[in-house]
Amino acid sequence: MLKRVSLTVALLMLAGCARTAKNVVDDVGKAIGAGGLTSIQYSGSGYIYAIGQSFKPDDPYSKFNLKSYTRLIDYDKGASREEDVRTQFENPPRGGGLQPVIGERRAVAFLSGDSAWNAGANDTPAPAPAAVEERQVQLALTPHGWVKAAAAAANPTIESKTEDGKQVTVISFTLKGKYKVSGFVDDQNLLEKVDTWLPNPVLGDMPVETTYSDYKDYAGVKFPSKIVQTQGGFPVLDLTVSEVQPNAATNIEVPEVARGATPPPVRVESQKLADGVWFLAGGTHNSVLVEFKDYVAVVEGPLDEGRSLAVIAEAKKLVPNKPIRYLINTHHHFDHSGGIRTYVAEGATIITHELNKPYYEKTFSAPRALSPDALSKNPREAKFETITDKYVLTDGARRLELYLAQGNLHNAGLLIAYMPKEKLLIEPDLFTPPPPKTPPTAAVSPYTASLQANIKRLKLDVRQIAPLHGRVVPVAELQKVLAAGKKS
Ligand SMILES: [Zn+2]
Repeated sequence: MLKRVSLTVALLMLAGCARTAKNVVDDVGKAIGAGGLTSIQYSGSGYIYAIGQSFKPDDPYSKFNLKSYTRLIDYDKGASREEDVRTQFENPPRGGGLQPVIGERRAVAFLSGDSAWNAGANDTPAPAPAAVEERQVQLALTPHGWVKAAAAAANPTIESKTEDGKQVTVISFTLKGKYKVSGFVDDQNLLEKVDTWLPNPVLGDMPVETTYSDYKDYAGVKFPSKIVQTQGGFPVLDLTVSEVQPNAATNIEVPEVARGATPPPVRVESQKLADGVWFLAGGTHNSVLVEFKDYVAVVEGPLDEGRSLAVIAEAKKLVPNKPIRYLINTHHHFDHSGGIRTYVAEGATIITHELNKPYYEKTFSAPRALSPDALSKNPREAKFETITDKYVLTDGARRLELYLAQGNLHNAGLLIAYMPKEKLLIEPDLFTPPPPKTPPTAAVSPYTASLQANIKRLKLDVRQIAPLHGRVVPVAELQKVLAAGKKS
């Protein structure tokens, strides 16, 4: 009797071991009804977060109410339409991500084959070629997309793991030759989690974890009621699904402007603000070049390495034969710090608020196999100068003062820069001048109000503002915006 039981157990174990990755993928496909499914639309609500826009470096990303969310996927065409409508969550606003949201803000992201685009103003399509790969990977992270990608993958692997005391089967494969995708399958053959990594200028190979729970049945197709995705360890989406339509009608057509679009070349346009001071614009984010006796300093290394290389080339053209000794980083938000590693590779010292140094030391050491940069190819130790409240860079003649913008809720370590001789203020994200001839609105951002409070507190005599978004303006533009707010 005992022998027969153990023989049965042994046979069962053998059968378990013999289950291949392909068997598991087939079983998941059957369990969630992937076979006859060519498209799906799901919608719901919850929370959405702006990655890399937290108040402090190690805080969760800034949070918004996700009033509505709808995603239509055409698996046959590799197409997707994702629409979200967000409203302000925190009052007063805290952190970045273009807060405060006045009313609601809608965004629509599309993918079809090798084309990506967004809905721009008045729903005019705006090509987004840089987003193609990420959106393709995201398709393979959805439950049915994962089954289809896993079934098509060469040599998927199988592993048994214990997660939170539960036995799961992990199926891994490589997508597009470089993205490792691992699906965690429970004992009901449901996909409960998919892990992958995406390249990020700040975080390097950034872990992306998507969890699926509370599956419900929609005429033979199972779909999770709860979807949570984290990127770099913090949530970016927390969705409660309320409606699912398997095999929904699809009509995602690539608009002419997005067909074959490639990322536009990085443009840097320099504008001389004073002797030895240049505003480096030409894109969505600006930098300021300041010449000292033996070196130059650059205020802000935004976006990514592509932007930094172009800004550095322009700096070398404007001031040949002087090294870039300092890069001043105004705050840790990803769009403002994604390019600072390139300056470290150039030999520059990073000047930043003391809150950021441990964060950058951690993120600088992250692996970067998905998108190697100059610093990962030629590693060197980053040098930092940190600021608590005030720091002055001077050679006796030229003077650049850096201050913590106290009491601002955009970022805990946000720095503003002031040049007393030039009466020039350089600031990120607290005040972005409206385009010329825009009638001032009654709503003044609390971030702009905090800039004014700091100008007063520090008794700065400002004539001109060089914002790190938008155009250089006389200080009167700031006063105009504040005055319109007071009148209302
Ligand atoms: Zn910011």
